[in-house]
Amino acid sequence: MVDKKCTACHRLGASIELYDDGDPTGELICRDCLHNDKGYSTCLFCGDDIAHPEGQVNSNSECKAVHAGESCMSEDERNGWESNIRKWSEE
Ligand SMILES: [Zn+2]
Ligand SMILES: [Zn+2]
Repeated sequence: MVDKKCTACHRLGASIELYDDGDPTGELICRDCLHNDKGYSTCLFCGDDIAHPEGQVNSNSECKAVHAGESCMSEDERNGWESNIRKWSEE
């Protein structure tokens, strides 16, 4: 595999996909930049291999575009959501 360049520091070895508004930008950053640069955050649900611009991750470490609210979803909301998924998959 060819080493990819980090879009932030331009060193080789970047492995974390940079997302914007929940979509991959095609750019990569390295772990150093993820940890050292305050401009990037990870989402609890997307995992450590995806970086989001700082402003797109809320204080619960959820990306606003896709996962906001998931870790504090109430039991009722979760049940409603699951029956929706069941409905969709039956169609
Ligand atoms: Zn970097
Ligand atoms: Zn996420």
